[in-house]
Amino acid sequence: MKTRTRTDPLTSAVEQGVPLLVLSPHLDDAALSCGAMLIHASSRTQVTVATLFTEAPPPPYTLSARRYLRQVGAPDAQTLYSQRRAEDRAALEPLGITCTHAGLTEAQFRRRPHLGTPSVWARLLPELAHLYPVYRLHVISGHVTPDDAGTLRLALELVIRLAGRGLVLAPLGVGRHVDHVLVRTAAAYSGAPVVYYSDFPYNLRHPADPGFLQRHGLIEMNWSRQLRGKSGLIRAYRTQAHALFPGGRIPLVPETYFFPGVPAGSAPRAPR
Ligand SMILES: [Zn+2]
Repeated sequence: MKTRTRTDPLTSAVEQGVPLLVLSPHLDDAALSCGAMLIHASSRTQVTVATLFTEAPPPPYTLSARRYLRQVGAPDAQTLYSQRRAEDRAALEPLGITCTHAGLTEAQFRRRPHLGTPSVWARLLPELAHLYPVYRLHVISGHVTPDDAGTLRLALELVIRLAGRGLVLAPLGVGRHVDHVLVRTAAAYSGAPVVYYSDFPYNLRHPADPGFLQRHGLIEMNWSRQLRGKSGLIRAYRTQAHALFPGGRIPLVPETYFFPGVPAGSAPRAPR
C-alpha cells in the first residue's frame, strides 16, 4: 500500500505547529487509533485529546453491559470508569497532552431521556430503559437512534467549543459503534477542518464506510512512524488492553488517516 507522509495536511499541520484536537469516543480510542501520531505530534505542537463518553451510571444494567463488565473484570461500571479516566491521564499527560473528559454516558449505559421514575417493567428488564439495549443489534449497528439526538447536540456543542483554530482529528466510525459514528457526525457538522482516523483495532476486521468516504471526498494516508512507542501507550490502558488483545500481542500496523481534497499530482484512492 502506498504511503504518503510528506505532503498530507495532517503531517504538514503538525510540522507547522498547528494545534491538534483529537476526538476520542472512549477512554482509549485516541491511543488505539492515533497513538503513533500523538507521540510524534506532542513533541511538536499543542495536542488535546477530548474523550466524549467517559461516564457510566449505577445499576441496573443490560445483559450486554453486564457481560462487558465481567469481560474486563470490573466490579461495577462507576469503578471501571473511574479507573479508565485515571488510565487516560496517566498515559497521555506525561507526553504533555491535555486530557479533556466530556462526561457523557457511554452507549451501553445510555438510558432513554425523560423517563422519570423507571417503571416496574424497566426495573425488571433494564433493556426497556436503555437506548441501545443489545450490543450486537444496537450498539454496533452504526445507527444513532433519533431518541439520542440530545447526545449528538451535546457532542456538537463540545466540538465547536474546543475546535478553536486547530485541526480536528475524528473517528471514521469503522466497526459501526454508535458512539464513534456520533462523534464523526458531530465533527462533520462542526464546520472545523477535520481529518478522520481509521478506528483501530476494529479496522482489522471491518471496512470503512464507502458512502461516507465518497460523500466527503476523502483520500487515505498511512502513517508508519513511532509504531513501537505506540504499543507501550496502548498497554497503559490496562483495563482494556487485555480484552482487546487476548494474549497481549498488539499488531503493529500503520495508522490510517483520511482527509478531504486531492493533493497536487495525486489521484484519490478508491474507497475500501
Ligand atoms: Zn471506542
